[in-house]
Amino acid sequence: MTEQERKHWSCHDCGKNCHDDAKDYYMVKHHLWAAFGVGWGMLCMDCMEGRLGHRLRVEDILPCPLTEQINPYTREILNRAGRNSLPLGRAGYRTEILKSNYGRTKDI
Ligand SMILES: [Zn+2]
Repeated sequence: MTEQERKHWSCHDCGKNCHDDAKDYYMVKHHLWAAFGVGWGMLCMDCMEGRLGHRLRVEDILPCPLTEQINPYTREILNRAGRNSLPLGRAGYRTEILKSNYGRTKDI
């Protein structure tokens, strides 16, 4: 990873490399990101929850392939609430995302 890539993937608040932890691949509702996020920057899940002042809730999560398929943490929250709408058949899509973002596949 180049210095530029490392900078791109660093959490704005704590500096954690968000590239390697699927928990840090997420999207929250747009009004929440506008209020608590960092624009085009990165914010790890722990720092996002710190800014929100609570653990992530189902109503905070923007449903998308990242939150419904890739991120095990948001998947669990969505699944517990019966809100994961993507069928399991979309797993191929998850693999595509992982290849493009990680440069490798990873069982998550
Ligand atoms: Zn952080």
